[in-house]
Amino acid sequence: MSTRSLSILESIDPATGATVGAVPIAARAEIEAAVRSARAAQPAWARRTLAERACALAPLAARLEERAEELASLITREMGKPRREALGEVRGCAATLAARLNEIAAALEPEVTEDANTRSVIYHDPFGVCAAIAPWNFPLSMPHSLVVPALMAGNAVVLKPSEETPLVAEEYAAMVRALLPAGVLAIVHGADEVGKALVEAEVDLIAFTGSRETGKKILAAAAQGLKRVILELGGKDPMIVLDDADLDKAAKFAVMNAFRNAGQVCVSTERIYVDEKIAADFEAKVAELTARLKVGAGTEEGVDVGPMVNGRQRDFVLEQVKKAVAQGARMVAGGGHKENFVMPTVLSGLTHDMDIMKKETFGPVACILRYRGEDEAVRLANDTPYGLGATVFGRDETRALAVARRLQAGMIGVNKSCGGASGAPWVGAKESGYGFHGSKDGHRQFAQTRVVSVPKG
Ligand code: NAD
Repeated sequence: MSTRSLSILESIDPATGATVGAVPIAARAEIEAAVRSARAAQPAWARRTLAERACALAPLAARLEERAEELASLITREMGKPRREALGEVRGCAATLAARLNEIAAALEPEVTEDANTRSVIYHDPFGVCAAIAPWNFPLSMPHSLVVPALMAGNAVVLKPSEETPLVAEEYAAMVRALLPAGVLAIVHGADEVGKALVEAEVDLIAFTGSRETGKKILAAAAQGLKRVILELGGKDPMIVLDDADLDKAAKFAVMNAFRNAGQVCVSTERIYVDEKIAADFEAKVAELTARLKVGAGTEEGVDVGPMVNGRQRDFVLEQVKKAVAQGARMVAGGGHKENFVMPTVLSGLTHDMDIMKKETFGPVACILRYRGEDEAVRLANDTPYGLGATVFGRDETRALAVARRLQAGMIGVNKSCGGASGAPWVGAKESGYGFHGSKDGHRQFAQTRVVSVPKG
């Protein structure tokens, strides 16, 4: 039987329906062969020091910067995000790489610990072969956030990018591979079946970013071989607007964070809980800012909101909105769609028995619910199996911080987005994460900890 792939994966521009390009879908035998090659190449890569591995990867920053415009165009064509955001994605990866490599190297240096009788060295060794499985919403930075720490830890990597954005990933992988010994990084293309086959292959670590549902399947499949997993999953992020909040600032943030990347962001603001005393003013401001957003193809100048990634995602979002309205939600702004373009939509008058308050929407929809008293706001914000990000807006920082500490999310921003300072982890709580990235602890999840001890003489 042939081991060559027989089928082709087409990448479609969601704004126009045009074919952007195509890649071959990896057959199971090809996936297994990629894992075998990675395993063969890994020991020599692992023998290099952390500084040598960092040196090998460092030129990637300049190469990304040189090709930023071209890569940004490809991102926009493959998944629709406005060009400005696509360029920010590429430049962000380039600008932060040097610091990231230093941070990872520092996290993985061996450490010594001793007591009266024993001297121990704690090592952070590679696992072996890492399967890196990525989503499409940040087609460059998501593969990058999996591949870089896995390689720095001395693992070889087989990357399976999203079937929605194979071409960006192909370019990215080619740039990284040019810096590495043969076989250390491979890429395989395809959808669920290819992801499943990769998880089932002889890999040691599965680093996955994607939906909660797929995360659960991967965890179950990994259990067979007790393979290590790092799962960064979806969210249903709440925003709490306290009665003393700066309403202009809060409304501006809500609109930016609900509609950026057409709401296709894991830490999008999907649920907004606003004190009933200020709710009418807040809603009016959000509606006004939302109405100003320009919707269109990401290639057009000045566009704020591009298309949904595909028709399936569009229909899912529209159905959630339709059901919420049928159950009594009020449309404050937006509504409707044209082809894959869903108008930025603001709903109010929601209740927690509606589907839209429970399931991740991943589209340009902001849901506003009025609360009475902080206890109710906290209870509603925590009433979800998700726990990725959250935000609290209020002028009295001490009070806002106290509310923040009661939220069950992994990352909470007070009067800002949920992302932390450099060196802070990217971490989901509850069903939004199982393992995490960034920070000393996050980087170490890509490595096997080992201890070698000797008696003190
Ligand atoms: P998805 O779960 O549908 O797919 C993610 C990847 O998994 C794709 O490459 C897909 O082909 C692959 N896959 C699908 N089924 C598989 C299986 N059974 N075994 C192995 N691989 C499989 O997610 P998506 O639609 O690509 O991305 C959107 C989701 O990702 C949202 O839920 C979003 O919140 C989440 N996300 C989370 C973060 C984070 O940092 N926590 C970041 C970005 C996106």
